[in-house]
Parts: sequence; structure tokens; C-alpha cells
Amino acid sequence: MTTGRSPGTPSTGTPIAGTATMVKAENVRKRFGRHEVLRGVDLEVATGQVCCVIGPSGSGKSTFLRCINHLEKIDGGRLWVDGALVGYHQRGDRLHELKPSEVAAQRREIGMVFQQFNLFPHMTALDNITEAPIRVRNEPRTQARAHAQSLLERVGLRDHLGKYPAELSGGQQQRVAIARALAMRPKLMLFDEPTSALDPELVGEVLDVMRQLALDGMTMVVVTHEMGFARDVGDTVAFMDEGVVVESGDPRSVLTNPGHERTRAFLQRVL
Ligand code: ADP
Ligand code: MG
Repeated sequence: MTTGRSPGTPSTGTPIAGTATMVKAENVRKRFGRHEVLRGVDLEVATGQVCCVIGPSGSGKSTFLRCINHLEKIDGGRLWVDGALVGYHQRGDRLHELKPSEVAAQRREIGMVFQQFNLFPHMTALDNITEAPIRVRNEPRTQARAHAQSLLERVGLRDHLGKYPAELSGGQQQRVAIARALAMRPKLMLFDEPTSALDPELVGEVLDVMRQLALDGMTMVVVTHEMGFARDVGDTVAFMDEGVVVESGDPRSVLTNPGHERTRAFLQRVL
């Protein structure tokens, strides 16, 4: 950490040149008032890989995802997506905050799926998906609709394009939410407990869509309690506790032979 930084400004660092690393977090810190929620998160996610983040409630998993996606601003450390500092531009060894339009440009390249699907209730599945491409990316309506149709097919909902969220099951709504995020052609997808709000019998259909997305090469950071998914689909698993990544690495080693007592204790509770 350099000294003499103003609060709220991450230290400068060497940008990762372009790039086998999609997400890189170095000593990322975030506090809410006196509560330091992220206390030096270190994590790397390689391009094309899936990183599953596990850990107890309150350990900072959602906050970390929100920092990657500009929903929260980090207080310290450095955070890059695809080689670019999140929220900042570096000139020499000085950091300049990005303009809102530049932040918006960074955000457009990141898709996020939440526990609560957050679909627009007054719009059909198709319109939910085309809304942002048309308004934000200025895609022609016909092109946006064709893309949305192919995405709905991809998530197994080809016959549901005219339905409203209330007419869809939770699993179907979450699949629409995934298609909606993909419609912006993101280079990174963030999932924050995407199946935690679902009835157990609907979890599998959402995980199947995510598994296929991973096979198609999407870079994904997935906060999940689905240990089977983490083991089978994750290229890496990161265990977070009390605002730090305690350990990360190959799922088989983290999940079956953890190196830390805190990881062992957590896994004993959830497995
Ligand atoms: P997790 O996703 O691992 O359950 P969170 O990142 O949601 O953890 O939360 C970590 C801690 O930060 C919790 O103690 C939570 O209450 C706190 N927190 C999260 N967001 C805010 C906020 N906007 N204001 C104050 N405290 C927050
Ligand atoms: Mg959370």
C-alpha cells in the first residue's frame, strides 16, 4: 500500500496487459462506516474460466461482486477487469476517476444476475431482454429481437417469449434474467447466489444453463452455496471469510482437502 493516498482512492499499480486475466483483485478494501467488510481481497480469475466463490453469510461475497460491477466503490487496493482499472484511468502513476460515461462503458461489458431475478414485471420475457440492447447499445429493434429469441432458445425458453414474469416459474424467470444479461454481450458474468431464491426442484434448470454458458467459454464469477456446481463447473473455488479470500484454487483441493481450518469448518457445516 502506498502512503498519502486520499481515502477512497485505490493505489496505482501495474496494469495487466491484455490479457489472460479477466478479473484481478489486489488487497481490495471496502468499508461501510466503521465496518470494514472487505479487508484485503486478493483474487484472480483467468479469461474463459469459472470461479465459484463460497463462504459464510456476511463474509463480503456480494460486496466484492458489487465492487467489480461498479455498484460499490472500493476504498483501497486495486481491481482490474480485462486489464482496465475499475472506475479509474491511470496516467503515469496518478489515478483519475472515470467520467460517468466511461464508467457506464465499463459496466456494459459486465453482466450480473442476482438472487432476486429483478425482471421488469410489466414487460414480456422478450421485452425484458431487448430493453437494454435497444436503449443502451442502440441496437436496431429487429436485431435486438432476433438476438433475444436466440438467447431465449439458448436458455430453453423459446416458447415463452411473450410471457410476463408473473406467468413464469422462478427458474424460468432466472433463466430470462440470464438471457437478459447475455443480451448486452458481456465479456464477464457475475452471479450472486442465482439459485438461492428458488424452490429446490427448479435449481437444476438454472445450473444447467450456467453450466452450458461455462462450456461455451464465458468468464464467470459465481457466488453460490451449490457445492456440487462449484466442484463440477468451477475451474477454481475461492473461500471467503470475514472479508478476505482465505484460500482459492482447484475445486477438488479446496473442497476436499482445504488448507485452512476456517475452510474446513465451513465445509463441515454446509456439506
Ligand atoms: P455476503 O454476500 O457474503 O453474505 P455481504 O457482502 O452482503 O456478505 O455483506 C458483508 C457485510 O457487509 C455484512 O455485515 C453486511 O451487513 C454489510 N453490508 C453490506 N452492504 C452494506 C451496506 N450497503 N451498508 C452497510 N453495511 C453493508
Ligand atoms: Mg450475499
